[in-house]
Amino acid sequence: MLQKDKNPVFNFYIPGEFYSPDYLGGKSYSDTSESQAATVKKLMKKSGGMLGTGQNGIIQEAISGGVLRLNWLEKTVNDKLSPECKRKINAYIELVSYGLRFKKDIVSNWLTGYGSSPDDIAPDLKKEYEYNLAGWTISNDAALDKLQNPGAEIKEWMNNLGIGFEDLKTPLVNPFEIDEKICVPTELFERMKNLGLFKLKIQKEFGGLGLNQKEYDRVIRTIIHTYSGTLSGIVSAHSTLGSKPFEYYGDDNQRHHHLPKVARGDGLVSFALTERGSGTDAVNRAATIARLSPDGKKYVLNGSKIYITNAHRSCLILIFAKVDDGDPELKPTVLMKELPFRLSDTEEQLEEKRQRLKKEGLYISKPLELSGIRGSDQAYIEFHNYEIPLVNEAGINNVLGKVGEGTKVIFNSLNAGRAGFGSFCAEAVKHAFRISVLESIQRRRFDEHGGRLADLPQVKKYITEMAIKTEVIDAAVELTTNLIDTYPHMNIIAECAVIKALATEGAWMVSAVAGRVFGGQSLMKGYPIELIMRDMWVPMIVEGVNEALKQHLVGVGVKPLLKAGLFEHLKLALSHLFNYESGGLSVSDMWWLQIKTKIFSTKVRIRGATDIIKGESTLLKQRELLALADEMIEIYGAAGAMLKLRDKNLPGHKKLALEQFIKNLKSRKNNYPASIANAYIKEAEKELNTQRNLEEKIFKNSFTCIS
Ligand SMILES: Cc1cc2nc3c(=O)[nH]c(=O)nc-3n(C[C@H](O)[C@H](O)[C@H](O)COP(=O)(O)OP(=O)(O)OC[C@H]3O[C@@H](n4cnc5c(N)ncnc54)[C@H](O)[C@@H]3O)c2cc1C
Repeated sequence: MLQKDKNPVFNFYIPGEFYSPDYLGGKSYSDTSESQAATVKKLMKKSGGMLGTGQNGIIQEAISGGVLRLNWLEKTVNDKLSPECKRKINAYIELVSYGLRFKKDIVSNWLTGYGSSPDDIAPDLKKEYEYNLAGWTISNDAALDKLQNPGAEIKEWMNNLGIGFEDLKTPLVNPFEIDEKICVPTELFERMKNLGLFKLKIQKEFGGLGLNQKEYDRVIRTIIHTYSGTLSGIVSAHSTLGSKPFEYYGDDNQRHHHLPKVARGDGLVSFALTERGSGTDAVNRAATIARLSPDGKKYVLNGSKIYITNAHRSCLILIFAKVDDGDPELKPTVLMKELPFRLSDTEEQLEEKRQRLKKEGLYISKPLELSGIRGSDQAYIEFHNYEIPLVNEAGINNVLGKVGEGTKVIFNSLNAGRAGFGSFCAEAVKHAFRISVLESIQRRRFDEHGGRLADLPQVKKYITEMAIKTEVIDAAVELTTNLIDTYPHMNIIAECAVIKALATEGAWMVSAVAGRVFGGQSLMKGYPIELIMRDMWVPMIVEGVNEALKQHLVGVGVKPLLKAGLFEHLKLALSHLFNYESGGLSVSDMWWLQIKTKIFSTKVRIRGATDIIKGESTLLKQRELLALADEMIEIYGAAGAMLKLRDKNLPGHKKLALEQFIKNLKSRKNNYPASIANAYIKEAEKELNTQRNLEEKIFKNSFTCIS
């Protein structure tokens, strides 16, 4: 018997204690006998530098030069889509939203939360159910009508994509069903493929749609309107990996061989980096080894991977492994392997292929059961002497980039994905916020305060808080999206880390506050807020945990400084001392941003210089770096908000929220005036009235409950 008092730790059970077999075979990757500083420098050198060496990023400039390049940022504001591109993308978005419309049974899903179903339903709930059903029928009929009589631009898209009315006739999306069954139905995958959602970022010459980041942002936001983080997660993981690694590191043969297949929708592309024993320390601790065979013709893989998204629908998998080719040191490398999975696979076909691969030494688990973005299918993978030839049967090289350059391939390829997470979060919280304001004006509570939830002072504070966060995320995402399109050769690794941290943490905060407004409903199955809250946890963890990204973003800027000597530091500091470019902002805003940037840069430089003198590494001072990163995130968010405020068409309520954000920053206070909540409540009332009037007209004769 265990003595509880003596061994309190045994009162808890943590399943699956980790066992790590020693695949490294005595070889090391990072030499622990060196000083930590030298190890970090060596690691940075191995990462091979970041992309876009043609132009420094905004944050690199801020750190090394002490100036926020507002003139560069201003250019991004003016560089929006042309009217022609706007018309085209609007038509595509409309088509995607018809294609991804809700199935009829979505109307009954909320009944699960009440312990009911359409066959066993309490009388009062029945009225609501029938009302919702009538609403669904009207909107589905309207979509069918549009699809049967599409405008010229939608028609053109349908022709280009090779789809007609029949292909889109049946509504297929039910986020609650996907969540419950942890599975995206095959016909929905087919629909998504037909709509072009798996070739969004693949260049046109390979059969893709070749969307730029702004257009891609619009599509990701549209998918989120289905309330399914799962569908957005699938498209986003695939889009990040389905083309960017090839664009940056693929040779011509690899591009011509793989990309047309992916664009055609044979299957998705997955990326196997994370291991149970490596996680965020993905490079150092990775223990998947690819040993070169004695004849030099193949790699033999041993090791494991976890959480690999889309693995079960992939026609191609990219695997991060350490190559052992006989040299004393292991070489981080990205290998490729074609997989037999197809989007159209039935469950039986998928299982048969899984078993076949197992015999070859590649064990791909059944989908993991996670609590967020359920159905986006993550897999646990083990390699047991699994063979990958150096070139495949078609003579195509199975190494992406060069042997030993794997770190660079991974980190640079993940950038655009992180920016995509911004779009995902910005739109999801817009939705969470919108529905919680609508809910708060419809719920009758406490007459002494005005009679609605929205009239309670604390709820008003919640609304203002959410409004500010939502608008700032939106503005910062817009800034990053435009930055990527305006400066394709810029090193945006730090900006993408900023936007991922800013958007995902903000989105988590807004979802949690929205959950409070919904009260008990936030826990009930079949309600969007319950789903959103679970899904919004995921972005903070995937594609690099935020803490690591924050450290990284300062690291990227520090890197050139570490190379520079003290004299160089001084020269840089002096050269920008009087640089106050304004980007067309007011003197007060410009001054605040530039002074903050100079203070920030000075702190980083002092940190760097002190450590260089002491022979230590700045990159190991984590708490300081994370605090500095938060300062940079604040500056970046403020710049996004200030530039957004220059938009003459910005609605008044959004303007109020962004102005308050800036006021709070400048005064270092957290004020959440009720006037901002009131402005949003007014907008929600207008929306609800329009909706009610429309419904009244439609339902007047057919549905008595509404009057
Ligand atoms: C839904 C989902 C999909 C995914 N898809 C993929 C995929 O397709 N391919 C793939 O390769 N991986 C994928 N992942 C893996 C994901 O990228 C990892 O979970 C993530 O990198 C974190 O690794 P970990 O879970 O081992 O956490 P750990 O690395 O153990 O980190 C745990 C916690 O420790 C702290 N921490 C970690 N590192 C630092 C640091 N440097 N500084 C400060 N604090 C730190 C943080 O609080 C962090 O949350 C997916 C994960 C999920 C949940």
